[in-house]
Amino acid sequence: MESVGRRSLAETVRGVIRFAPAELVTFGHDQSFLVGNPMAVVAPADVDDVVALVRWARRTRVPLVARGAGTSLEGESVPPEGAVVVDLSGWNALLEVDPEELWVRAGPGLVNRDLQRALRPHGVFFPPNPGSWTVATIGGNVATNASGPRSFGYGPTRFWVRELETVLGTGERARFGSRVAKRSVGPDLVQLLVGSEGTLGLLTEVTLRLAPLPERREGLVVPLPSSVSLSRVARRLRPMSRRGLSAVELLDRATAAVLAERRNAEWPADASLLLLEVEAHDDREAAAGREALIASLRAVGVERSPTVFADADELWTLRGASGVALDERTRPRVREDVAVPLTQIDELLVRLRAIAENAGVPLYLYGHLGEGSFHPNFTIDPATAAGRRVRTAVLNAALELGGTVSSEHGIGRLKVDFVARELGPSAVDLLYGVKRCCDPDGILNPGKLYPPSLGRAGGQPSPSLSGSPDPATPTP
Ligand SMILES: Cc1cc2nc3c(=O)[nH]c(=O)nc-3n(C[C@H](O)[C@H](O)[C@H](O)COP(=O)(O)OP(=O)(O)OC[C@H]3O[C@@H](n4cnc5c(N)ncnc54)[C@H](O)[C@@H]3O)c2cc1C
Repeated sequence: MESVGRRSLAETVRGVIRFAPAELVTFGHDQSFLVGNPMAVVAPADVDDVVALVRWARRTRVPLVARGAGTSLEGESVPPEGAVVVDLSGWNALLEVDPEELWVRAGPGLVNRDLQRALRPHGVFFPPNPGSWTVATIGGNVATNASGPRSFGYGPTRFWVRELETVLGTGERARFGSRVAKRSVGPDLVQLLVGSEGTLGLLTEVTLRLAPLPERREGLVVPLPSSVSLSRVARRLRPMSRRGLSAVELLDRATAAVLAERRNAEWPADASLLLLEVEAHDDREAAAGREALIASLRAVGVERSPTVFADADELWTLRGASGVALDERTRPRVREDVAVPLTQIDELLVRLRAIAENAGVPLYLYGHLGEGSFHPNFTIDPATAAGRRVRTAVLNAALELGGTVSSEHGIGRLKVDFVARELGPSAVDLLYGVKRCCDPDGILNPGKLYPPSLGRAGGQPSPSLSGSPDPATPTP
């Protein structure tokens, strides 16, 4: 049966098709603990090839899973049994840039850092800088609505997408959005695709909005006293996003110490750290921004002087290595991604510490403090019943505090059962309505994002993945 599928796939697609077992193993993973078993990996030759592939998938009912760099953390790019992985990492051309009108058109496989490097000589940049920016693609960034430290000042990827070209699950080519700076022609269909995790269409071209590159971007590292209220710090700094403060990050003491040990980070190892980015045109403005910031921090009890990184990107690359450095030391571990209103940060931290204590494991915490967004890590295998209990407790805590189960990493397979609880039945019905229009046969990334057994519109059966007997379990 599988050989028949392979033959008909080979007869359909002009691009490169890979069946080698070692390749299938590689493309069966993302950066979650889930494991998939695809039947093939296809790198389509062009958009017509993508259309042919989607039509083939509709005829054969073989699932398709779009893939950029495969760095997703919730199983988004892990293929279900027998699926075809659509590898778009080779579609990495920068097609056109207009630095005056502030947009760039590119293939979805372009790596975020490569895009930034290419834009720099034009004096513009694409603000979202996830920790994975050195490898993650802009197609993946759009499909997961990725954020990064700079999202404090500039917002998530969602704010920076102007136009998308896609092949929907129907096999139709579609172009959503517009290059113009503003438009008022009905609801914004671009936003349906942002964060859709490859469940509605395969992105074949992306047009992004850009921002003027500041002359200077300084990174500041400030040790925090253990008694400080992080809610107060975050609320004090939030309004400064309009005055050149573009990132407000937290590394707890344990994580800062791991980075000092593993990555030779030159910062104090005796305290939790606030990592900040200040933008300025010149030295004078940078000094003034630094002074204003220090005064604001003093007002909330933060007294120690900052260490300055002349190039903030160095700081973000170091901060982005937090997860990998923890992996080297503590793997496997539960790593979560929740956000709460700034007023609830202190309470969230109390609950996270209690969860770690109950589980009898240490807590490593880092995240985007200025947005109330945190990545708590617990040194416990996420695929075990104990790991699942910890994940569930964290997600429940976030929801109880008026927050979200996914601040930036998306839903994928692992959080699918929390979608209905967070969004409510009407929104879930609407999501299914959109899914039915764009992907009537449910061939695009089944089992991800859409709760399989919920919604009055019905759902797709959840395809099998190994690695976890169950995703986390919501409490009603
Ligand atoms: C060390 C590390 C740090 C990270 N830090 C952050 C962070 O700070 N912020 C953050 O938001 N995330 C972070 N992530 C998560 C991840 O890197 C992001 O979600 C990123 O946007 C995924 O990009 P990718 O190219 O790897 O996408 P993939 O993992 O390949 O795919 C992700 C999803 O997008 C879909 N997709 C990919 N390309 C397309 C396409 N062309 N058309 C349609 N769908 C597509 C896939 O089907 C899948 O559902 C981190 C991950 C790691 C490993």
